Amino acid sequence: MILKFAATIYNGVMSLPQGMMVTLKYFLKKPVTMQYPDQKWVMPARYRGVVSLIFDKNTGKHRCIACKNCVKICPNYSLAIETAVGEDKKWFPKTFTLELGQCMFCGLCVEICPTKALEMNKEYELATYTREELTRSLLP
Ligand code: SF4
Ligand code: SF4
Repeated sequence: MILKFAATIYNGVMSLPQGMMVTLKYFLKKPVTMQYPDQKWVMPARYRGVVSLIFDKNTGKHRCIACKNCVKICPNYSLAIETAVGEDKKWFPKTFTLELGQCMFCGLCVEICPTKALEMNKEYELATYTREELTRSLLP
């Protein structure tokens, strides 16, 4: 009985330095936590974020020819395009909207685009306060 009591006391006393050793071990290691939102994740190359048009850095132009392939292939009607014909007799998207609340990030629209005009960007902070904010224009 006395021996069991002494063992309990001993274990209790020894658990304190054992716990402190674990604390010390992690205190000296590089932290794995990130100071979000001051620090942001760099998403992997194959991460599928929001569908967006690619704009040329020099000309500021996109490659969309308003063929509507992306609209047709989208399984849940997340994309909508209004088309028009320019002075050069070429079709272009007058409006191009994405219903982000419906999009399931499948990437079919990006795959089907004949001019590689679309990409899935690296955006990951997608929460909004209203549904209206989830309707996005892909054009500036
Ligand atoms: S990623 Fe998929 S669901 Fe989203 S707009 Fe493209 S085709 Fe539609
Ligand atoms: S498939 Fe590509 S080129 Fe055709 S409308 Fe969509 S973004 Fe534009």
